[in-house]
Amino acid sequence: MSSFGTQTKCKACDKTVYAAEVISAGGVNYHNTCFRCSHCNGRLALSNYSCLDGTLFCKPHFEQLLKEKGSGALKSSSR
Ligand SMILES: [Zn+2]
Ligand SMILES: [Zn+2]
Repeated sequence: MSSFGTQTKCKACDKTVYAAEVISAGGVNYHNTCFRCSHCNGRLALSNYSCLDGTLFCKPHFEQLLKEKGSGALKSSSR
């Protein structure tokens, strides 16, 4: 909050990202080339992405992940 740095860094590769190539998703900045699904490596769009624990997914893989996680989580915490 207090340290608005002089340079914007990409969350994915931790390198400086310039205004021309930045994608700001939910307050987090990425290179437009780094803004891709961690599962299938497919390019994402701001209108079509999901983020879980700082990891990017495309919609199909996000839903797939939720189902896989969800079934396990539901069993362990039945409330
Ligand atoms: Zn990057
Ligand atoms: Zn994907």
